[in-house]
Amino acid sequence: MVTLNQQTEQVYNWISDIPDPEIPVITIKDLGMLRNVKFENGNYVVTITPTYTACPAMKMIEDQIIEVLGTHNIHNVKVDLTYTPAWTSDWLSTEAKVKLKKYGIAPPSHSSCTKLFSAEERTVCPRCNSNHTSLISRFGSTACKALYKCDDCKEVFDLFKCH
Ligand SMILES: [Zn+2]
Repeated sequence: MVTLNQQTEQVYNWISDIPDPEIPVITIKDLGMLRNVKFENGNYVVTITPTYTACPAMKMIEDQIIEVLGTHNIHNVKVDLTYTPAWTSDWLSTEAKVKLKKYGIAPPSHSSCTKLFSAEERTVCPRCNSNHTSLISRFGSTACKALYKCDDCKEVFDLFKCH
């Protein structure tokens, strides 16, 4: 007989490997998006904090959670989006930052992202580690990222935005 705590932990583990739809090398757990799993009123309530309020990927993540748990025969699932406290890039695990860089996306460079995203921010090239980079566009391949170019190796890369 499994206790409820073990069961919610199991649910947490099952969904923690769900990749971010936009950056498939990192999981929702790496991103710090997966906040909590609890059992409430007969449902497993999964609390997710979106990394970016405008990200259309949230619906995909919600569907994935329901799908993954469905394969384990768990159908009483509620996905709860919470915006308080707001997601910050501080929640990215060290592992997530390494994975982002390997994927060619510059992870946020400073730990406290309370300021608005600014072009003066030092962005390091994920390819050659140069900080001679220039902002091409505030919006990269998705709204969550900004597009940069390295002035040294000429690599064009995405920056995972701080917000
Ligand atoms: Zn470079």
